[in-house]
Amino acid sequence: MILRHSSATMASVSAARRRVFPMTSTPTTQAPAGPDSDPLVEALRPALLGPHTALRAHIRDVVTGLADLPRSGLTYWDQAALAPGMLRSAIAGLGGSAVAIAADPHRLAILCQEAAVSAPRLLPILTGHFDLAIGGIRALSPASRWRDDCLAGLDSGTTLGALCLTELGGTNGADHRTIAVWDPVTDGFRFYSPNLKAAFHMPNAAGLDVPLTVLVAARLMMYGRDEGVFLFLLPLRTEDGLVDGVDVVGLPDKEYAPMPHGDIRFRGCWAPRHALLGRDWARITEDGRLDCEVPQRERWTRSLTPLGDGRLHLALGAMATARAGLGGLVNFARQRESGGGTRMIDRDAVQSDIVAGLISVYTASILGRLLQDMRAGTASSDPVMGLWSMLAKPALTVAADDVLLTCQLRTASHGATILSRLGAWRGNVHGSRIAEGENQILCKTAGRLLLGRESLGLPLLQLPGTPNELPEPIRLLAERERVIAAGLCAGNLTVAGPVLGPDSAAIALAVATTERALATAPIIAAAGTPDSGARELLIRLGEAYARDRLHERAGWFHDHPSDIWQPIQCTLTTGLVEDHRILLHHLPQLVTAFDVPDLPDSPLNGPDYTAPYLKITRWGEDSFINAAA
Ligand SMILES: Cc1cc2nc3c(=O)[nH]c(=O)nc-3n(C[C@H](O)[C@H](O)[C@H](O)COP(=O)(O)OP(=O)(O)OC[C@H]3O[C@@H](n4cnc5c(N)ncnc54)[C@H](O)[C@@H]3O)c2cc1C
Repeated sequence: MILRHSSATMASVSAARRRVFPMTSTPTTQAPAGPDSDPLVEALRPALLGPHTALRAHIRDVVTGLADLPRSGLTYWDQAALAPGMLRSAIAGLGGSAVAIAADPHRLAILCQEAAVSAPRLLPILTGHFDLAIGGIRALSPASRWRDDCLAGLDSGTTLGALCLTELGGTNGADHRTIAVWDPVTDGFRFYSPNLKAAFHMPNAAGLDVPLTVLVAARLMMYGRDEGVFLFLLPLRTEDGLVDGVDVVGLPDKEYAPMPHGDIRFRGCWAPRHALLGRDWARITEDGRLDCEVPQRERWTRSLTPLGDGRLHLALGAMATARAGLGGLVNFARQRESGGGTRMIDRDAVQSDIVAGLISVYTASILGRLLQDMRAGTASSDPVMGLWSMLAKPALTVAADDVLLTCQLRTASHGATILSRLGAWRGNVHGSRIAEGENQILCKTAGRLLLGRESLGLPLLQLPGTPNELPEPIRLLAERERVIAAGLCAGNLTVAGPVLGPDSAAIALAVATTERALATAPIIAAAGTPDSGARELLIRLGEAYARDRLHERAGWFHDHPSDIWQPIQCTLTTGLVEDHRILLHHLPQLVTAFDVPDLPDSPLNGPDYTAPYLKITRWGEDSFINAAA
């Protein structure tokens, strides 16, 4: 297939860039971290993190006040048990109402990011409490005394919130095994798990004696008739222990992210009619009938639509730890002398890793920030927002995982202990890749939804603020996405590359959309900054990411040549080297803009990476015998 393009270039952008940056600059990585008052830093920071400086500072104070510091000797369950107390303290410190926090998209998004970095043992329960439980209730529960009673404990954090969705035998869309049987005599529902495969698998429901209220996905049976899968709201554990008709058994430890996972079985547990969640579109009538306007197979999807927020917040949290990890690596590499006295930061292979991390962290963080802004302006049930969250979680968690792995390897022994936090962060990111929709399944589902849009003739999914004219490398990514979408719609699977079938093809489309969005995000941010230096750097970051993707996708473009691919392919390698040199030249400012919080005792975050070891060993300079003196 031949693609046709106009030869228009971003001439004005290129000319401006030549004015400001040397075309072959020597990296000035020896410079100290750029000061906060540097106008470039001040312009980059809101592009990356948004304008909520005071709110972020307040939330940071509250979260660091939780003092979730690395401690040796805690068991898995000791660590899991720390989270509920931290949750209560965080809610109290942020005004006392979890419902109010959940209703404020920016506050909740920043809380998840700050907790990801400074309270990694709190993060794993945050989205379950705020997004899945409280968010689900706010979006789906009709007003009732039952709802208010359930929300009361969640509001203060004295009760934990969670979602029971995954069944042991697999969660296959609307094919849930757990049943909720309508009982007209008691005016409520009774819940049953018919067999082991129907047991709920892994909610954080075990071990602790903290009250727990859950949203449960179950198939509604009305007088023997299958009415499809809905969510129901019920307490699972109160101050008096597990409610009648529920069994919970704790699962063995995971190797990461300590959480009190349990398997849950229902044996006739009861909840009133108001437990059915389907505000505005599903209710039990006074005479005991289901009144629901949504077709049976779609009820499950409709029930889950508002739960996309959790995915976005896991993605934002993952990226916050990637920024902190990369900031730590750069700080460490500036101090560390390697063989022959060469500082790590001056080694080109280390620089390559750092600049690749920078490009990844900037594009993904800015995409996350734009989606956070988008979410603040739309309802959580908005299907386009839900689709963006499905794309964002895989993209941002995988990018964060890659960056954190690089940080672990480059900081070697100094990144290996719990003091660096890299292991805890990466463990949480690993959990986020699986929880709230395993990434591969999300990509496949998102790809199918994108194909649905294509078949309706809808335009490509666009980030608000996308300029009409994008730099050539990004236009090529968009063209690739268009070709794949159109080809798949026409039934041509190989247009997606060497795929085995429709799932992989749908995933390829989702990835193509995400790559175009990641490249576009810094361009949108560039248009919003008044600082010309920041604008040019942001454009450079978007283009560098796009060039890297084109390099990676060269095989696809070889099979699908176009007019602009031919000239670009010849300059990709030199273009990327130039991108890297220019970004390295501005490394101090680019990293200072991350605004990483202080991480006490981490060898990666202070001015002297040996200081934590001095504290541990107490081997001061004067305690050594200097035989050479
Ligand atoms: C840290 C953590 C916290 C969790 N918390 C909770 C919680 O609070 N509540 C809860 O209910 N669950 C929770 N889970 C479970 C989590 O939601 C599931 O693990 C996740 O949704 C994947 O389901 P699964 O494990 O059954 O994997 P599977 O569904 O078996 O998927 C495994 C693989 O099979 C393939 N696959 C399966 N189905 C499809 C499909 N439809 N389309 C394409 N490919 C497919 C994919 O390759 C996928 O990676 C948690 C899990 C973790 C790790």
